Amino acid sequence: MTPRILVTGGAGFIGSAVVRHLIENTASEVANLDKLTYAGNLESLALVAGSSRYHFYQVDICDGAALDTVFARFKPTAIMHLAAESHVDRSIDAPADFVQTNMVGTYTLLEAARRYWSALQEPEKGSFRFHHISTDEVFGDLHGTDELFTEETAYAPSSPYSASKASSDHLVRAWQRTYGLPTLVTNCSNNYGPYHFPEKLVPHMILNALAGKALPVYGDGSQIRDWLYVEDHARALVEVVARGNIGETYNIGGHNEKRNLEVVEIICVLLEELAPEKPAGVLYYRDLITFVEDRPGHDVRYAIDSSKIQRELGWVPEESFDSGIRKTVQWYLDNRDWWERVLTGEYRLARLGSS
Ligand code: NAD
Repeated sequence: MTPRILVTGGAGFIGSAVVRHLIENTASEVANLDKLTYAGNLESLALVAGSSRYHFYQVDICDGAALDTVFARFKPTAIMHLAAESHVDRSIDAPADFVQTNMVGTYTLLEAARRYWSALQEPEKGSFRFHHISTDEVFGDLHGTDELFTEETAYAPSSPYSASKASSDHLVRAWQRTYGLPTLVTNCSNNYGPYHFPEKLVPHMILNALAGKALPVYGDGSQIRDWLYVEDHARALVEVVARGNIGETYNIGGHNEKRNLEVVEIICVLLEELAPEKPAGVLYYRDLITFVEDRPGHDVRYAIDSSKIQRELGWVPEESFDSGIRKTVQWYLDNRDWWERVLTGEYRLARLGSS
């Protein structure tokens, strides 16, 4: 039977990488279910939107009736749930949307999935999967140098974003334990790569540098993140939904721990090589680095132990940080149209013709 995968948040950064991967590398039918918030960009799907196997539904995951309609029409064999409010700074300024989408939305989606799955007959019922995509930020932060987050690490979220994601993880596990819904959970470290919305660290620094603007680094830039190239994450997710064991959690990470300041410095070095013609008044890109007041509650270090998914599903990242960040900087240099339309807001016009 051809897999029919419903991806929530498929117009976002990671969701669009998953949709592109599924269309380009598998025979699956793919439905992208997305509300198209400011973070949803249909132009990130331009390479695959023409496929007869790609379907799009503009739906809010908080709207249970609309979810029922999409399930009845598309008849998914699996759900990959990525729709979320995802930006930590926004969660500090305005947490309500995070509670609504990440917690109430996940609850609403779980209930819609349960209604749909309960009515399925075998063998479809037995092979159905609900895969919830989450973050390593649910574990809080690390202070020593030795420990890593494992699947057994206790939850200790710090920000409204990570607390709302932690809540959604708990809901998903409870729906498996209580109702038998066949769920899987993955917790991944920081992603970077093409089609990343410019408010996030890596694209923000690349685009500010190209414009000759300041490169704002929180605090002293010593916070450590474990970076994973987004296409490696997408491959991992597709492995988990296809072959992961029901009820299991898999940590996903690249073993690429870098201090934030180091990441910004590496971007500056790459830009010196790949974009040597600088904006007026800029001698070296790194001269644009500026230290700004730290984010409240800023986590010190994240680092993930991904040995379980490597051992059980044979997934390994293909990109090192050096190769992935070089590809990413080059992608932003080659795809000015995509990010200029994000910066001007024109990308939002694409949604007028959608759904
Ligand atoms: P993103 O902000 O780029 O995309 C989120 C998508 O969800 C957007 O297309 C948006 O329109 C959609 N959306 C938001 N609210 C919605 C709603 N109520 N109904 C339907 N659609 C809605 O996020 P991302 O970086 O691609 O992250 C995707 C998932 O992966 C999130 O669940 C996030 O917590 C998780 N994650 C992200 C990272 C990372 O580094 N970016 C790391 C680990 C896990």
